[in-house]
Amino acid sequence: MTDSYKHKGLRKKLVEQIKSKGITDQNVLAAIEKVPRHFFMDSSFVEIAYQDKPFPIGEGQTISQPYTVAFQSELLKIKKGDKVLEVGTGSGYQSCILLEMGAKVFTIERIKALYQKTKVLLPQMGYNPKMFFGDGYKGLSAYAPFDKIIVTAGAPLVPEELLQQLMIGGIMVIPVGANDLQTMILINKTAIDVYDKKEMGAFRFVPLLEDKHFD
Ligand code: SAH
Repeated sequence: MTDSYKHKGLRKKLVEQIKSKGITDQNVLAAIEKVPRHFFMDSSFVEIAYQDKPFPIGEGQTISQPYTVAFQSELLKIKKGDKVLEVGTGSGYQSCILLEMGAKVFTIERIKALYQKTKVLLPQMGYNPKMFFGDGYKGLSAYAPFDKIIVTAGAPLVPEELLQQLMIGGIMVIPVGANDLQTMILINKTAIDVYDKKEMGAFRFVPLLEDKHFD
């Protein structure tokens, strides 16, 4: 697959659109401008890869809307070297944005086919997050604590294990809601078992489901 001037031009326009929707973090905007989103979609979707919309990536899952990726990334206040846990690898697009922002990324996916596809694609593009096949509800205790945690699927509740794996002073961003509409929750861990929570608006995500799914 190629990244042509046309694609780069479309990305510039997408960045302008995302800016006009209120994203100001220069690192986020630079990352959106850099990462070729059309690489994460089947080739027939190349023309629409730069619309600000979610899109199917197979297995009933979606690549998040660029604005949503930008919004969650901005809330995380990424600093170079931050250790970030992502729940819901999916296409790998969000992981690449975080890597471009200077984070060390650990990402978990529960659907084997998506895990395998992304594990091949990302290194081909020069991106190397640590990728895991497993249940994100449990986090990754062996690699905890994390400076930041991002959940990219709609959770019925905030998983306790993820809160435990967040560093004191750390930030978690998670869409919470039982149905197909969630509230983005921004969590600051201020001390052991002490959390400051803020609601950041309504979003729509595919559901966070428990346990591994092998096919
Ligand atoms: N961040 C992704 C968004 C993918 S959609 C991207 O940039 O493309 C959400 C993903 O979360 C789906 O791939 C879904 O399979 C995955 N998911 C759902 N429940 C999960 C769980 N418990 N653990 C890990 N991944 C999960």
